[in-house]
Amino acid sequence: MKHMKCPFCNVRLDVPDELTSEEVTCPSCGEAFMADPELEVGYKAPPPAPPVRPRPAAAPVARKARNTGIIVLLAIIALTLMTMCVSQEERAHKEEIRRTKQELKEIEAKMKAMRKRGP
Ligand SMILES: [Zn+2]
Repeated sequence: MKHMKCPFCNVRLDVPDELTSEEVTCPSCGEAFMADPELEVGYKAPPPAPPVRPRPAAAPVARKARNTGIIVLLAIIALTLMTMCVSQEERAHKEEIRRTKQELKEIEAKMKAMRKRGP
């Protein structure tokens, strides 16, 4: 006995084994259809198996290569971020030096002015 689904009305049917792959008539909707094994309820067993079986040696290599690619990508991103940080720090440092030099100039100018005004 096989539990099948009618392709027309989706009702569950109990099909005797000897009628498998024969034309049967649905008692619910009266449509005739082939009682193929694919119509059996819970027939989805075979599809999940094939992806695991083929080339067991190839899968780890492919995964390793993908991991390496990700690592390289991460390294590039890290390097880019580091470079950006350094250049930003450098820019900030240069800006600080420029400001300090300007302050020094201002102080010098003030001192000169004071000396001129002095006794
Ligand atoms: Zn039916």
